[in-house]
Amino acid sequence: MRISRTPATSVAAPPEWITGEARVDAIAAPGEGPSRTRIDSVHFAAGARTVWHRHPLGQVLIVTEGTGLVQHRGEPVETIRTGDRVHIAPGEWHWHGATPTASMTHLAIEEIPDDDAGPEAGAPVTDVEYRGDDHTVPAGDTAPIVRSVLLDQSLAAPRATYRVEIRRITIAPRQPAGLHVHNCPVFGSIETGSVIYQIDGEPESVLGPGDVFHEPQGVRIARFDAQEEGVTFLGYFLLDAGEAPELEFPQA
Ligand code: MN
Repeated sequence: MRISRTPATSVAAPPEWITGEARVDAIAAPGEGPSRTRIDSVHFAAGARTVWHRHPLGQVLIVTEGTGLVQHRGEPVETIRTGDRVHIAPGEWHWHGATPTASMTHLAIEEIPDDDAGPEAGAPVTDVEYRGDDHTVPAGDTAPIVRSVLLDQSLAAPRATYRVEIRRITIAPRQPAGLHVHNCPVFGSIETGSVIYQIDGEPESVLGPGDVFHEPQGVRIARFDAQEEGVTFLGYFLLDAGEAPELEFPQA
């Protein structure tokens, strides 16, 4: 038995096999015993892909990270994501790689014939083939549209909102905001740094870049304490006509 600890050591993929940048971490290969199985973990940088190729006994790909593309000759380019498995038949011409905008790592598993005949390389995948006309990745460097619901927050009561003020707020390292109450609902998202956030009487949480939060109107915010690196966030203040954001600092 042999245990290989992370971080794994990887080597650059052979340039004649790859367009762009890819790294290979060899996990298993014929030669150490009777097994004929080859397993590689291959990381493709955004835009990288194999050349057209085929495997004498076929291949199985398992996406372990990111989003990638695969195409069997004559079929549309398909998007593959973490957890997806691709079964490639013996002798089937195909290519695989990252998307133009996201990297991808997959395990590549294949059986090597007794005569050690490896996969056969064909022509590079052209940009036109890579972008394809009939798959989900748009041409050029335009990122695909991704929509995620970060927060779906009901207010305690319906409330007139006439305007929304957005402020960028920076709190110095280790500076606590102190127990405070807002006169309006405040929504926010962390840009950089991190903060310990706690509504009075509820568990505290640590917010980092990209995290969103809601400070309800009239509720005691026990903690909004910048951590070691400080914090910068956007705060969205929902205001009625003639109203301005106000902060109260009640005694604890
Ligand atoms: Mn392959």
